[in-house]
Amino acid sequence: MTTIAIPEHSGFGLANLPYGVYSAAGSPPRVGTRVGDTVVDLATVLAGSDPAAETLFATPTLATFMATGPQKWADVREKLQQILSGDVPDSALHPVDSVTMHLPCEFADYVDFYASENHASNVGRLFRPDNPEPLMPNWKHLPVGYHGRSSTIVESGVDVVRPQGQRKGPQDESPTFGPSIRLDIEAELAFIVGVGNEMGTRISTGDASMHLFGAVIFNDWSARDIQAWEYVPLGPNLGKSFASSISPWVVPMAALAEAKVDTPTQDPTPLPYLHMDSPWGLDISLEVEWNGHVVSRPPYSTMYWSPAQMLAHLTVNGARTRTGDIFASGTISGPEKNQRGAFLELTWGGKEPVAVGDEERTFLEDGDTIVIRATAPGANGETIDFGEVRTTILPAR
Ligand code: CA
Repeated sequence: MTTIAIPEHSGFGLANLPYGVYSAAGSPPRVGTRVGDTVVDLATVLAGSDPAAETLFATPTLATFMATGPQKWADVREKLQQILSGDVPDSALHPVDSVTMHLPCEFADYVDFYASENHASNVGRLFRPDNPEPLMPNWKHLPVGYHGRSSTIVESGVDVVRPQGQRKGPQDESPTFGPSIRLDIEAELAFIVGVGNEMGTRISTGDASMHLFGAVIFNDWSARDIQAWEYVPLGPNLGKSFASSISPWVVPMAALAEAKVDTPTQDPTPLPYLHMDSPWGLDISLEVEWNGHVVSRPPYSTMYWSPAQMLAHLTVNGARTRTGDIFASGTISGPEKNQRGAFLELTWGGKEPVAVGDEERTFLEDGDTIVIRATAPGANGETIDFGEVRTTILPAR
C-alpha cells in the first residue's frame, strides 16, 4: 500500500480528479484518474466500496460511468477523494509517463459553437471587411453553431495530416485543388454530455448541470482557404471535418465549481429559453504553444454564452443528445492581440506575421507542433490542470 505523492503546486490534486482511459504496457485500456504524476486505476481502488466498480471502470470507455448520472458522479468523486488521500494498493498505480492515453469514449454527435464575441467580431472584420457591423444580426440572440464530424476527433499525440481540398482566392479566376496553404488552429474548450435527453424534449439552462459531465481542451483544426470557399451558405464542412484534437483527461464539472464566474453582460436580454439570472462562465486560462514558443493566452472567462445556454439551445428544437455527445465553445479570443485563439486572428488574415522563436510565421507548416494547455482555480486554493493537447502536422498525402 502507498500514499500517492502529490508534488507541490500540482494541478492534479484531489480537487481535480479528472477521468481518462489509459493503458499500461501489455494491458487493455481501462478508466483511471490522475493524482500528481500517478495514474490510478479506478476499478482497483473502488473494488472494496462499490459493487459496480468493475462494470463501470474496468472497461475501455468512460461512457458507462457517464451514463449513470449526476448522483453517481458525485458519490464516486466523494469516495475517491476519501480513498485517494489514504493508502491505496500499489497494483492500482502507474507513473503517468508509463501509460498510453486514449479517447475517453466514442463520441456521439459533435457541435461547434462560436461563443466568443471577440473572435466572432474579428472574423467578421476579416471575412466581411466592407460591413460596418462585424457581428451578424443573430449573434447576440442565440449561440451560433454548426454540426461537425465526431469520427475525426482524436486524442493528444495523434498527428494530423494536412488536408487537401478546393480553394479559390478572391483574385483567382477559378478554384484549384491541393494541400491547404492556410492551415490554422482554434483553441477551444469542449463539454461532454453524460446523460442526454429524449428526442422531442429539451434541456433547460437550469438543468444543464444534470447533463454535463466534464470538459476537455479542444483544438478545432481549420483549413482557412478551403473554409473560405466552401462555407457560403451552409457553414463549415471539409475545412474543419478532417480533424479535431482533444486533451485526454476529462475534468469533471464538479472540479470546476470554484472556476464559475459571471459571463460578460448579455445585452439584449436573450429569449426566455436562453435567459439565466446569472449566466455562468468559467475562469479557465489557456496557453497556445507553437514549436515550443507560447504565442497566445486565451481567457475562457471572456466567452459571451454560457455552456448551459449552448446545451439549452442545442436541444430547444427537440434534438436528442446522447452519452458521449460533445460540444465545443468556439475559438476563445480575449480582447488583447496576444489572447487570440486562432492564427487567422493573431496574424490578421496572414498579413501580420507573429514571432515563433526566431521565425516569422502566419499559418502552419509541415512538422509544426502545437500544444494547448489550460488551468483553472480549484477548491482549497488548488489549481485544476487540464493537461495538454499536443499535435504535429504531417505533410499532405
Ligand atoms: Ca471552431
